[in-house]
Amino acid sequence: MDETQKILLGCDLDRTIIPNGIQKESPLARPLLRRLAEHPDIFLAYVSGRDKKLILDAIEEFCLPVPDYAIGDVGTTLYRIINGNWQLSDDWSAEIGQDWKSLDREELTLLLGDIKEIQLQEPEKQSRYKLSYYTDQNVDYQALVINIRGCLAKPGVRVSIIWSVDEIGKIGLLDIIPARANKLHAIRFLMQKEQFPEEHTVFAGDSGNDLDVLTSGLQAILVKNAAGDVRKQVLDALSKKCMTNRLYLPRGNFLGMNGNYSAGVLEGLAYFIPATGTLIAEAVEQIKSA
Ligand SMILES: [Mg+2]
Repeated sequence: MDETQKILLGCDLDRTIIPNGIQKESPLARPLLRRLAEHPDIFLAYVSGRDKKLILDAIEEFCLPVPDYAIGDVGTTLYRIINGNWQLSDDWSAEIGQDWKSLDREELTLLLGDIKEIQLQEPEKQSRYKLSYYTDQNVDYQALVINIRGCLAKPGVRVSIIWSVDEIGKIGLLDIIPARANKLHAIRFLMQKEQFPEEHTVFAGDSGNDLDVLTSGLQAILVKNAAGDVRKQVLDALSKKCMTNRLYLPRGNFLGMNGNYSAGVLEGLAYFIPATGTLIAEAVEQIKSA
């Protein structure tokens, strides 16, 4: 590569580079991503709702490249990974911890102790800045949120509340995290801290929990296997800001691949930063001659 500036490639995991959706993955895609990640100027950051253990499980199960950074636990943890050693960023913890007014998770649990509709999840599902509960899948979510916010208002704790339903387990999952802990803020924090310029930063995602980044104006890729309604939401949001040029929608046919998962990530990376296209083409040759 002729440019000396380093590149930050942020990737969601599930259904972005983990091919665990219904669409097919091109066989060349992940081996190519692995080759590319070895390049000293390319820094890979995983950006996922998964915690460290589940990220490590995915790396092993799907032969994913070991990243340079990982933003996990719905944006509440940021790790720098050097020689397999995961170092938690105290700076990021301090940044988001401001929202909890130096209260810890146990103290928040006590503040919410009278709410009958929520039951604490197992200790291994909790982390320093993620308080996780179960709810009934048919819980009155709006009323619950008002109730939770009411309990936290007095100490001035600022939170984001994320609720989803586990369709298989037929149970509601509720995460309470610091208000500023989200994928977008974590990526911007990382860019600033490690000096990745915007023109050398690219993010790839596939679904609703990537929307804040995909519609932020950062250079972004929505992989081809993404659902149609997500594509529409992203395009609508970017149209309003006159920023559709910040989004790349893989078409497929890039080096014979289909644009799903890692293939879409590579296609988009080569679009935004053409010098990487040369690297990817070289990696194809290396794989073929290996
Ligand atoms: Mg995903």
